[in-house]
Amino acid sequence: MPTNRRIVLASRPQGAPTGDNFRLETSAVPEPGERQVLLQTLFLSLDPYMRGRMSDAPSYSAPVGIGEVMTGEVVGRVTASRAAGFSVGDLVAGRTGWQEWAVGDAKTVRKIAETGSPPSTALGVLGMPGMTAWAGLHNIGQPKAGETVVVAAASGPVGSLVGQIAKLRGARAVGVAGGADKCAYVVGELGFDACIDHRDPAMGERLAEACPQGIDVYFENVNGAVWDAVFPLLNPFARVPVCGLVANYNKTELPAGPDRTPLLFRATLTKRLRIQGFIVWDFASQEPDFLAEIAPLVKSGAIKHREDVSEGLERAPEAFIGMLKGRNFGKTLVHIAD
Ligand code: NDP
Repeated sequence: MPTNRRIVLASRPQGAPTGDNFRLETSAVPEPGERQVLLQTLFLSLDPYMRGRMSDAPSYSAPVGIGEVMTGEVVGRVTASRAAGFSVGDLVAGRTGWQEWAVGDAKTVRKIAETGSPPSTALGVLGMPGMTAWAGLHNIGQPKAGETVVVAAASGPVGSLVGQIAKLRGARAVGVAGGADKCAYVVGELGFDACIDHRDPAMGERLAEACPQGIDVYFENVNGAVWDAVFPLLNPFARVPVCGLVANYNKTELPAGPDRTPLLFRATLTKRLRIQGFIVWDFASQEPDFLAEIAPLVKSGAIKHREDVSEGLERAPEAFIGMLKGRNFGKTLVHIAD
């Protein structure tokens, strides 16, 4: 029987995570109990929300404990089953964490949907990030033909789908991304109308030029300087699905003043803005609708996506740390086994 390797949280980061916050351990491969399956991890998904789970600040989900396996969703293969409905060889997704082998409960592991696309897409464009894009736009953003939709982290799994769905709805899609290569991909491959590099000191002017009719939907993925550039351009009745704030995740203190909360509330009132936070699983019941619309478009190639795959569990901390700094180009995955 092989040995299990797993990555545990060694300490809580202050600011940006470092390699010292993680520890690689070995352990025996666990035995599945009743109504459990044994999984061999094929792909591990790395996602920005994991930075929140490394912190013990209050949030919508409990933190990872010190010494516990880092949380995360995987696609794995069932290698032993004591659960009705699961057979050896089934491909499943589950939140079994940063490890090569794991037992999963039948209640929390699910067979991945037959989408006609590779299994890794169940962690990206056809998984939680894709569902986030679709649900946030469908329920809160509600783009209409001719409107302007802006999204940052535009080459990543959430942002890339937000812009492509906006285009399907007949809206204009403007991305914000870090660097010329990502912007070229966002316009040239994904079909956005424009993309602004947030490292350009003139980002605000560039964004205003790219949005001559103002902004009707701002899908908030990052906050920080991008929000500062977007805020004055919001149109009356603009919708702002607040999905993520990745520019702030490693911050340890609030930005220097002045306090601009009154400006935000004034604009919310006078422009009748709708600013609404959401967590993807608020809309869990809509997952079949998401897959029914998006899976065929991914299979046909009408919707494009990109994966950034690191090789081997030991690379996970480095890939995760890099993702928070924009070093990923596409959905961040770790390939663990074939
Ligand atoms: P990505 O794979 O796109 O990775 C994060 C990206 O954020 C980086 O690649 C980088 O892209 C960008 N970024 C980092 N720092 C900054 C900064 N200071 N300014 C601008 N951009 C920055 O992530 P995902 O697509 O997986 O997630 C996108 C957002 O959606 C995150 O905020 C995440 O937390 C959120 N999310 C929320 C969910 C929910 O239920 N509410 C569910 C899933 C995701 P670049 O190089 O282009 O700047």
